Amino acid sequence: MNYSFVEAPFLGKSLNRRPVNIVGAGISGLLLGFFLKKQGIPFKIWEKNDTAGGLLGTLQTPYGIAEKAANGFLWSDSLVQICEHLKLKIIPPSTISKKRYIYYQKNLRPLPVSWQWVVQAGLRSLRPHKIQTYETVADWGNAFLGEKITQNLLSPALSGIYAALPEELSFPAIFPSLAKALTQKRSLLQALLQMRNNTSAAPAAYKGTLSFENGMQTLIDALQKHLQNDIAFNTNITECTPHENWVLCCPAGAAQKLIDEPYLYNDFSAIRYADIHTFTVFIPRENWQNQPQGFGCLIPRGQNFNILGAIFNDQLFPNRTISKDLISITCIMRDFDGSFSNISESNLLQQVQQEIDRLFAIQSNTIQIQHFHWKNGIPIYSPQLFNAWYKIHEFLHSSFSAIRLFGNYTGGISIRQMASNAEKIATLAAQN
Ligand SMILES: Cc1cc2nc3c(=O)[nH]c(=O)nc-3n(C[C@H](O)[C@H](O)[C@H](O)COP(=O)(O)OP(=O)(O)OC[C@H]3O[C@@H](n4cnc5c(N)ncnc54)[C@H](O)[C@@H]3O)c2cc1C
Repeated sequence: MNYSFVEAPFLGKSLNRRPVNIVGAGISGLLLGFFLKKQGIPFKIWEKNDTAGGLLGTLQTPYGIAEKAANGFLWSDSLVQICEHLKLKIIPPSTISKKRYIYYQKNLRPLPVSWQWVVQAGLRSLRPHKIQTYETVADWGNAFLGEKITQNLLSPALSGIYAALPEELSFPAIFPSLAKALTQKRSLLQALLQMRNNTSAAPAAYKGTLSFENGMQTLIDALQKHLQNDIAFNTNITECTPHENWVLCCPAGAAQKLIDEPYLYNDFSAIRYADIHTFTVFIPRENWQNQPQGFGCLIPRGQNFNILGAIFNDQLFPNRTISKDLISITCIMRDFDGSFSNISESNLLQQVQQEIDRLFAIQSNTIQIQHFHWKNGIPIYSPQLFNAWYKIHEFLHSSFSAIRLFGNYTGGISIRQMASNAEKIATLAAQN
């Protein structure tokens, strides 16, 4: 009884020291370029746009900065190496930002919401279970944590990262180490202890979300400068020429067109993305004098909100607004059924403002809302995607060995995971 994991940092055959073409100068392509350069392996990045970053970047608005996608990253040795090499100063999160809130029973409640839940979860962690595999996070959560904790804690916590519900998410894709441990151990506590014993990574110097004084654009600009002779902009790659090495660091749909292989059609079609909107909202501080202190809040589904939660930007990092008289928050929304595409921009912004006012019981009188829309925003880490990884990996390995896939849909959705994988890819290539 086991899951079919891909034990590789990307999909396809390992690289070696031969020159390689990278398609896409999003963060995955840039990170890979950084580590290949460090290993002295020749490469060229091809980017269809005239600038790097893909989804990632920071806009300067008249009231402060607005992140286009990620507002930060978690500590990893690979990212710290990059920042040290590029002389970038990492800003740790402020101490007040540790507190997080969940909207529960029409109120914002600081985690862990209820001590009764903590005790229940503790007792459940000791309970032995049948050794078995779990398809979705909901299957596992309901069995190990109970429905209440799954729906009101796990679900909003995961939606803040994966923008998807526990019913949509693959358990082994989201929690690979735990899934492996639970094929050997019968209780959650035993599995967690095994995971702790197997961990070799050094502890993080900073816990929580990190960023830069001027936002995530700082990382993109520094990587773009470092790799300036290795990137060709305004080049839309339409085919992967044979006899050359390729790593496709573009979204799954673009990679599918480049591979154009009927055998993989169903697997690529199973890779779906969540349609994501972000709204960075600037509010006069005088309109929200009792703003809760912390990182932000998450909202479970079924509470009559479209926004999934809010990040309190100016409490996390300095320089998020042009003046201390302003508050900046970012709300994330997923268009689950396509209904927002029929709403006008002004109605959508009005709806967001109304939801903010209801959530925090304020009259915000927002002075600016900066809206970004990503139709293919976040890949859904579904059981179908998990199964597709194995099949695509095996097929590329055996039949298309010059092509590999690497990006936010190939096993690591976050910048931290992509940085660690990029380093592994380059280290393995140098050894081959
Ligand atoms: C709203 C939001 C919030 C997020 N928050 C966080 C967070 O807080 N922390 C975190 O770690 N992660 C976060 N993420 C995830 C992270 O931002 C993304 O996973 C990451 O930026 C995706 O990078 P990528 O390189 O895989 O893809 P992309 O950014 O999509 O880059 C792909 C690149 O390929 C190029 N390209 C495509 N086709 C071709 C072609 N044929 N030829 C040449 N070039 C091509 C594109 O132009 C693009 O530049 C967030 C994502 C979103 C949407």
